[in-house]
Amino acid sequence: MSAVLIVEDSQVVIKVLHYIARKTLTTFDVVFAMSAEEARLALAKRDDWFASIVDLNLPDAPDGEMVDYMLEQQIPTIVLTGGMGDERRDALLRQGIVDYVQKEGLYSYQYAVNLVNRLHRNRDIKVLVAEDSAVTRWFVSDLLRRHQFQIAEAENGKKALDAVLADDSIDILLTDYNMPVMDGFQLIHALRNKHEKVDLVIIGLSSADDKYLSGKFIKNGADDFLYKPFSHEEFFCRIMHAVESMERTRELHRLAYTDPLTDLHNRRYFMEQARKQVAMIDSTESALSLAILDIDHFKRINDNHGHDAGDLVLIAFARSLRQAFSRFVVARMGGEEFCILFSGLPVDRAARLLDAAREQTEASGVDTPAGSLSFTFSAGIAEMSSGGSVDELLKQADTLLYAAKEQGRNQVMKSEALDCLRSEFLL
Ligand code: GH3
Ligand code: MG
Ligand code: MG
Ligand code: MG
Repeated sequence: MSAVLIVEDSQVVIKVLHYIARKTLTTFDVVFAMSAEEARLALAKRDDWFASIVDLNLPDAPDGEMVDYMLEQQIPTIVLTGGMGDERRDALLRQGIVDYVQKEGLYSYQYAVNLVNRLHRNRDIKVLVAEDSAVTRWFVSDLLRRHQFQIAEAENGKKALDAVLADDSIDILLTDYNMPVMDGFQLIHALRNKHEKVDLVIIGLSSADDKYLSGKFIKNGADDFLYKPFSHEEFFCRIMHAVESMERTRELHRLAYTDPLTDLHNRRYFMEQARKQVAMIDSTESALSLAILDIDHFKRINDNHGHDAGDLVLIAFARSLRQAFSRFVVARMGGEEFCILFSGLPVDRAARLLDAAREQTEASGVDTPAGSLSFTFSAGIAEMSSGGSVDELLKQADTLLYAAKEQGRNQVMKSEALDCLRSEFLL
């Protein structure tokens, strides 16, 4: 666990910070110091400092000397201040502090503490800076590095496009307008229209003397726009805003596509993926089959051992499916029904894998407060033929599942088996 140092001489303020930090900075060791001397002693004791929150005016460091010291030690520093002029603030930001917070009440202290967590999360966020001027590129990257982002750089739009398409981990693109080979508009066009990079946040940058540029950028798919030169503060506010809105969108996306009990994908996600893959199948001619799995006599588990035990069985079953079929899309469709989309695998091989999972399920139990519970499942698996639809495929798998139940449960039924049954039935 890395550490955060908070240096503040006011008893009242430190009490408030203590209270907030205990609730907010749960993944850090938080160390408090009430003077520059105490702070220096604390710093010397370890070398895994992640960040610091430092009062600008301390009795034994009255003029920001402690902030200078932190920056010399290369510890990201958030400055607390009772108030200061614009010049002083700009000088501190130029000097390399992460941000400053005026001591104006609970909200401002919460902001300072939240910022530490923000910096920590930023380490997982990758920003691509597309800018042809080496000086500006360096300046922007340096600001981003100060906020702990991962940085990639590109000197024109074409290189940026290639980088984004090759690297899924890029979350944010900061792009200049005027660049050789491919400009900022062409880049956004290519990303938004051709490649449907919807989860990429794009911020336009330009010093061009055109007041309509920001509108044009945003109408072409950028999320925000900044005119150069910008203040450090404006830059950080815009980036922070973009990052937070990106995280909210991703969280909404996750919630919309996840089953809350088992954490598997849900029906909505499964259907979207199935439709996408079915649409691709005619051009790629690769195999695609779909299985529906349903736990046998699940109602009895609920009735005999309680709903909570039933939930534990669902969670354990989901975990085993995720493990066994990690290469494929696995979803909980509802109740005790699950689906797997086998792409690029002949249906016979998929059915064999499924049958192995069936045997393993039959042989293992789930630990619950009601004791170890064993259960089985039945499944139907159908293969996609060209020109078919997802709904037809689902219906076919469902018919096969029904046949598996009829035939005594705990079995996997695939298309040929149904043909056999049909011919027997017709005979
Ligand atoms: P079959 O072998 O024919 O599939 O019989 P079954 O008992 O498994 O099927 P049935 O559809 O009769 O019962 C399913 C039960 O699953 C009924 C429902 O209350 C229960 N169930 C649905 N969702 C949940 C859930 O999230 N948690 C729990 N514990 N039970 C659920
Ligand atoms: Mg003070
Ligand atoms: Mg069932
Ligand atoms: Mg069912």
